[in-house]
Amino acid sequence: MPENVDAIIVGGGHNGLVCAAYLAKHGLRPLVLERRSVIGGAAVTQEIAPGFRASTFSYLMSLLHPRIQAELDLKRHGLQIMPCSDMLAPLDDGNYIVFSDSVERTQASFARFNEADARIYPEFDRFLNENARLFRRLLWETPFDPTGRDWRTFKQASGFLHRNWRIGGKLFRVLDMLSMSAYDFLSEWFRDDRIKAVLAYYASIGTFAGPKTPGSAYVIMHHIMGENAGAGGWGFVRGGMGSITQSIAAAARELGADIRTDSPIAEVRVGDTGVTGVVTEDGRSYESKLVVSNVNAKTLYLKMVGQRHLPAEVVRDISTYRTFSTAFKMNIACERPPQYTCLERAIRDDALAGWSYPTYVHIGPDIDYLERAYDDAKYGSYSKSPFITPVCPTIVDTTLAPEGKHVVNLFGGHAPYQLKNADWSQEKARFEKIVLQTVERFAPGFSNDVIANQFLIAPDIEAIVGLPQGHIFQGELSLDQLFFQRPVPHFADYRTPIKGLYLCGGSVHPGGGVSGIPGYNAAREVLRDLGRESTLRFAD
Ligand SMILES: Cc1cc2nc3c(=O)[nH]c(=O)nc-3n(C[C@H](O)[C@H](O)[C@H](O)COP(=O)(O)OP(=O)(O)OC[C@H]3O[C@@H](n4cnc5c(N)ncnc54)[C@H](O)[C@@H]3O)c2cc1C
Repeated sequence: MPENVDAIIVGGGHNGLVCAAYLAKHGLRPLVLERRSVIGGAAVTQEIAPGFRASTFSYLMSLLHPRIQAELDLKRHGLQIMPCSDMLAPLDDGNYIVFSDSVERTQASFARFNEADARIYPEFDRFLNENARLFRRLLWETPFDPTGRDWRTFKQASGFLHRNWRIGGKLFRVLDMLSMSAYDFLSEWFRDDRIKAVLAYYASIGTFAGPKTPGSAYVIMHHIMGENAGAGGWGFVRGGMGSITQSIAAAARELGADIRTDSPIAEVRVGDTGVTGVVTEDGRSYESKLVVSNVNAKTLYLKMVGQRHLPAEVVRDISTYRTFSTAFKMNIACERPPQYTCLERAIRDDALAGWSYPTYVHIGPDIDYLERAYDDAKYGSYSKSPFITPVCPTIVDTTLAPEGKHVVNLFGGHAPYQLKNADWSQEKARFEKIVLQTVERFAPGFSNDVIANQFLIAPDIEAIVGLPQGHIFQGELSLDQLFFQRPVPHFADYRTPIKGLYLCGGSVHPGGGVSGIPGYNAAREVLRDLGRESTLRFAD
């Protein structure tokens, strides 16, 4: 006998949970069905060795919006954001650059390399923050269809223009960020390639691109749009990133949502008038005229719904939606964190603002290094010198490791989902060695301190979380896949071609990252279609 529920959310990633919480807050009784035995998707904390727990996938918190934190009362449900040190970028010659929230400190660090770059930095910081404010408004928007000629599109478009008329005056800036390479964009401001690399580093994170790839400037913006305090807005969460999803789930449950794990959905059922429910892989069926997919659009459309229920244009567009990932992640249980060659000097210079150890590091010492790492991947190989972000949450969060021991997360690129003329089954161990050797280049002896390590490349991320080709953002963040083109033209407003079926994960606007905003925006559109009064709004 199928169960009949108000609304079904397919997937218990953070966006599915946010969407469920808001629907429950507005009187619905949603049922979340998660494939894995843990909720959280790419925001989970799991044991990697006896006594050591790590944020398996996402590892730094910035984007989870304060509005969502406050409205769902996540602090009361256990969310505790911890500070992160200034970012330290070790260089090959034992020198270093520090990137800080404090303009003066960053400026002082840049001045050690280039006086002109240091002088211009405050102006650049203002410019970037002004741009971030513009883009932050857009995060809360529902993308409209610019080709639509019906009354609803007219209302959506005019509402958008009314709310965002100020952007008109800054249109050229927005277009620059969306279309320029990070390198060209930064070269309009800075001269020193080591300084440019500190900022361009963000452009490569989770993206199959290098700093010289057109459009990569936007990815910098995507990474600094968070409103948390800390270097570039990043911080840790006590108990790891899983604490975020646990707190959202606790809020959702309290509001009335039902969350069930070990429920892999095989099919979304479609009838003559729209969606009718879902069926799990083991044949359990649930009926509802309202289904919201936290699972990415590609899997939803091509595997769960099936081509026969979709317009040919949507099938074509979603088939070519780019998800090819080159990101990798290594979670390490260790005796002590990497001892960077530059550390003594940085502490002597008082460059770490009182921290005795940097929690947040970028290994990617200049532009050519970052671009060459991409070049390898472009031609189908893994990077011979990958860029790596080592972070050490146990400096501030002692709940993750036995006393005196540490957890270090290495996130980086590039390790293509698929290699050309080679196979990961033979190459993975070789690449793992390269990753550790790269850390050793800046922190000799680190490998001797490793107790255990969990190494995840794109096929592993795909297999565990279900992200197609392991793409950390549920699809590339490039101009052709943003806003009213995410995930496909004509259906970017959280709705799909099937009545009652919606999308709420990273594959819809504004994309991936642990922000909760796709889940929030989707809930707003669902409630609107149901004709319910809602407290969900656009940018303030
Ligand atoms: C290695 C890595 C590092 C990252 N680092 C950061 C970071 O530091 N900071 C940051 O902000 N972001 C980071 N991200 C990105 C961020 O984690 C994701 O964009 C975000 O978590 C996506 O959330 P979501 O809820 O949209 O989707 P997901 O987390 O992908 O959730 C989808 C859910 O659907 C479930 N599912 C899949 N198939 C089915 C099915 N058939 N039936 C039922 N359920 C199903 C999955 O198990 C999953 O729980 C990282 C991602 C990865 C992979």
